[in-house]
Amino acid sequence: MKKVVLASGNPGKLKEFAASLSAAGIEMVPQGALGVSEADEPFHTFVENALAKARHASRATGLPALADDSGLCVHALGGAPGVYSARYAQAPGGVRSDEANNARLVAEMAGQADRRGSYVAVLVYVRSADDPRPIVVEGSWDGEVLDAPRGANGFGYDPYFYLPDLGMTAAELPLEQKNILSHRARALRGLLRALRDEFGRDQGRDQERERGSR
Ligand code: IMP
Repeated sequence: MKKVVLASGNPGKLKEFAASLSAAGIEMVPQGALGVSEADEPFHTFVENALAKARHASRATGLPALADDSGLCVHALGGAPGVYSARYAQAPGGVRSDEANNARLVAEMAGQADRRGSYVAVLVYVRSADDPRPIVVEGSWDGEVLDAPRGANGFGYDPYFYLPDLGMTAAELPLEQKNILSHRARALRGLLRALRDEFGRDQGRDQERERGSR
């Protein structure tokens, strides 16, 4: 198994990522277990934040690293809350709360006819801290923003994120189904494909080297 540090302290993400990436021969180790602090996320795009987190974890541990950044992008709000999804309603020095974030979303969307929104997840894998060619994959999940909550599963904006094809919100979907359909699941499948290619190439090179030395 190849050891890769996960640049996140979220136990839910560790579980989801570890289960899916073990199929590619990867053992995920959370950065907290290696004494790595959380990196800043000062950028305006998912990819820049995920890259900063992955480089930070790789630099601190000397291991390859995987990071993600995700959020809800609402069409009528110019893509907001976007990378600020977790702290949309957070006052300076205040605490983060899904409830306050959702209240702000509902207020911003009041009277808005265009309800389109997408969850977006970007995953970045770096082989080393200064990897010049990181693997970057994006997954998205299109839906609509409701003005009243429905359902009790999931987290964050899920009770307000309606999936017209399914006729339910992400919070009404059983978790197993969300874990197949979600933006994160789509990004993870893309990453798995990319890593299989990558490790297949590594293996091919090793075998060639072995043949050459015989
Ligand atoms: P982060 O990627 O851990 O920084 O999370 C970003 C934020 O985006 C979360 O705190 C949620 O507010 C929102 N978000 C990302 N993915 C989901 C999801 O699957 N359901 C609900 N909210 C999400």
